[in-house]
Amino acid sequence: MQTTFSIIKPDAVANGHAGKILSLLEANGFRIVALRMTRLSQSQAEGFYAVHAARPFFASLVKFMTESSVILMALEREDAVLKLREVMGATNPANAADGTIRKLFAESIERNSIHGSDAPETAAEELKYFFTGIELSQR
Ligand code: ATP
Ligand code: MG
Repeated sequence: MQTTFSIIKPDAVANGHAGKILSLLEANGFRIVALRMTRLSQSQAEGFYAVHAARPFFASLVKFMTESSVILMALEREDAVLKLREVMGATNPANAADGTIRKLFAESIERNSIHGSDAPETAAEELKYFFTGIELSQR
């Protein structure tokens, strides 16, 4: 079993797709370990996407991620990191496979509905960034 970190992004929450996305994740074998709805502060969003700080889209990405509420999740299943990336689909919804969350719900390459950690090491860091050890150990 592996745990990964995911965010239902502001576009999907605002457009009323959160329930459908949670349903799709559960249908794909993910167990919700921890979940919290919140609105990210600028510093939380900047810290979370720090790896992209030098990219031209960084300021716009931070503005988007802080515009309204998000849903933070810890998700468990076998091969969770890789499987979540599959269920999410490509970053640009124009390239996302049929049936993926981004194909179904994303508005653009930026407003793409869901985040998923890209490796086990980043999953561990991102889970720790947003959740306490107690939250992550509930079963
Ligand atoms: P995430 O990290 O959110 O799961 P990802 O791993 O598929 O997405 P990254 O390359 O890590 O993609 O980019 C992080 C986020 O930055 C994207 O999900 C998207 O919201 C935004 N983004 C990426 N590329 C662009 C771009 N060219 N223009 C605008 N926004 C972008
Ligand atoms: Mg990424």
